[in-house]
Amino acid sequence: MTTITGRCLCGDIGYALDGPFLSMLHCHCSMCRKHHGSAFQTEVAAPASAFRWQQGVDGLASYTSSPGFERTFCPRCGSTMPPSEEGGDVIFVPAGNLEGDPQIAPRMHIFAGSKAPWHTITDDLPQHETCPPGYDAPRIDRPVPPATRQQIPVAAAVCAEPSAFGSAAVPGPCATATVPGAA
Ligand SMILES: [Zn+2]
Ligand SMILES: [Zn+2]
Repeated sequence: MTTITGRCLCGDIGYALDGPFLSMLHCHCSMCRKHHGSAFQTEVAAPASAFRWQQGVDGLASYTSSPGFERTFCPRCGSTMPPSEEGGDVIFVPAGNLEGDPQIAPRMHIFAGSKAPWHTITDDLPQHETCPPGYDAPRIDRPVPPATRQQIPVAAAVCAEPSAFGSAAVPGPCATATVPGAA
């Protein structure tokens, strides 16, 4: 069994994850892009039972980016981190945290319909406009600062429950956003 560790930039917060992993994907939704400060975010999906914190979990900071969905980060260095609480059968961890080779490669793009206009996807992986087929994601409202509300495209998309990828029994990991007042 492959066990890999993940750590934030400053090293205060760390965890371990046992393989084999379920999937690896790139999410292009607007909220992941902002949270990670990048063209897209890459996550590894694994059974929740394969994950354990090693240090620093009590110091995790979080931001509720949409109802019921917290984005966690290290308050000292700002690195994005896995969710602090159990959210279902599957856990998603930011691939950029991982040390060493997780022995899995990206398998798909999700929310490709929301990708940054300046970014071109150049690989041959499947591209899903929003969530992969078979995932009934709830519609959720993306938080929008009032001053910029009118400039946000209605088609912007966000991730919602990080609970389900690879398990048909639970809701999907993502949701399509609707923007209040942007009709
Ligand atoms: Zn840190
Ligand atoms: Zn996302």
